[in-house]
Amino acid sequence: MSRRKSKVKVVWRKLGKEKAWGMATIGENLIEIDPRLGAKRQLEVLCHEQGHLTFPDKSEQEIDRLGKDLAALLWAQNYRKVVLAPNAKPPRIS
Ligand SMILES: [Zn+2]
Repeated sequence: MSRRKSKVKVVWRKLGKEKAWGMATIGENLIEIDPRLGAKRQLEVLCHEQGHLTFPDKSEQEIDRLGKDLAALLWAQNYRKVVLAPNAKPPRIS
């Protein structure tokens, strides 16, 4: 069994034509997400699309639940998006 590549590329772009807020391309480990979403929905869509990559055989309904549950948990624990200056490195927190 070959170890799958774990590094996921995330592309932020408007997804009007696709009629979706996010998309996952399983063979390419690619997540695309619409930047117009609010921060909480961004978190949910990221969790959802990673769910598709991690569990490619799960149904849309199961992945939808996973994305919503994970995002609600993280949000309730005050996880938020931090916007960094270009080329800035995130602070080291141990
Ligand atoms: Zn989905």
